[in-house]
Amino acid sequence: MKPAPLDYIRATSVAHAVQVLAENDGDGKVLAGGQSLVPLLAMRLSQPTVLVDLGGLGELSYIRDESGHVEIGAMVRARTVEISSLIADAVPLLPVALRHVGHVTIRNRGTVGGSTAHADPAAELPAVLRALDADVVVTGPSGSRTIGAADFFQGFLTTALAPDEIVTALRVPKSAPGTRVAVQEFARRHGDFAIVAVFAAVELGASGEIAAARIAVAGADQVPVRAAAAEELLAGQDPSPAVLRAAAAEVAGATRPFDDIHGTADYRKKITAVLARRCLEQALPTAERSSAA
Ligand SMILES: Cc1cc2nc3c(=O)[nH]c(=O)nc-3n(C[C@H](O)[C@H](O)[C@H](O)COP(=O)(O)OP(=O)(O)OC[C@H]3O[C@@H](n4cnc5c(N)ncnc54)[C@H](O)[C@@H]3O)c2cc1C
Repeated sequence: MKPAPLDYIRATSVAHAVQVLAENDGDGKVLAGGQSLVPLLAMRLSQPTVLVDLGGLGELSYIRDESGHVEIGAMVRARTVEISSLIADAVPLLPVALRHVGHVTIRNRGTVGGSTAHADPAAELPAVLRALDADVVVTGPSGSRTIGAADFFQGFLTTALAPDEIVTALRVPKSAPGTRVAVQEFARRHGDFAIVAVFAAVELGASGEIAAARIAVAGADQVPVRAAAAEELLAGQDPSPAVLRAAAAEVAGATRPFDDIHGTADYRKKITAVLARRCLEQALPTAERSSAA
């Protein structure tokens, strides 16, 4: 199939993009990397009357080291984030997670703003934003506002964005030095969307105890899930196998999975517990774990 007829406008600035969206009263769509939108247009699952291309907006293509957080412009490609040394040092969970997004050709085109706005519940980036309490900066006709990831992702492909707003940046808090990160993902084939994926960032204390843990799950709910009860259970504990197993059960308990052609809700819950345990084992050093066991 081919897309339904539409007008194509190449935005010259963020203000221009927002103006076109506002003028089209909810019938406009923003084009970023096109990796999700173009197939939807071709299948006519999305039929905007006007497509606003952000591709020329250099003002949205930057990675900035700010005090306490890193700011990533919406048009930065997933692959740019994945190979950035600034990101690797400041937010090590991001590159580890983004390596699981599709194939490198998709990451070369797909943008962080596009993945965030698309809000696929199985996507890696939204889950990382949720785990790390990142903010999404959005801009509309009346200016910019900042929305926490917990409020931004509202449902399946549904966000807090108004029809005349665009995502302009992500603000991701820096991780404490020495933070250990891990991602465990189950997908049918390399490059497929995850059926379930678990993301963890863990800080260790001076004696090898878990000082703080951040855990999120993709693919096991309509939105990325934060495993708060598991994080609380882990805080202050030695990373023994029993503690990690108990935390993994809490991670699965935080999800509200669904049945679809890839698996049942029950199956998703079971693999969430397995992936969560493996993820914590991967993040936590074996020596400390076995000496604490
Ligand atoms: C074969 C294949 C495999 C994939 N596998 C994965 C995977 O494993 N994990 C994963 O996370 N993703 C995967 N993707 C999706 C990929 O990551 C997309 O790049 C991403 O979801 C969308 O980013 P984009 O820049 O291409 O956005 P686009 O496709 O251009 O846009 C997607 C949606 O977001 C909106 N949008 C885009 N930018 C903005 C903005 N700045 N403000 C407001 N709205 C905006 C668009 O209007 C559209 O509704 C896969 C894609 C393909 C084709």
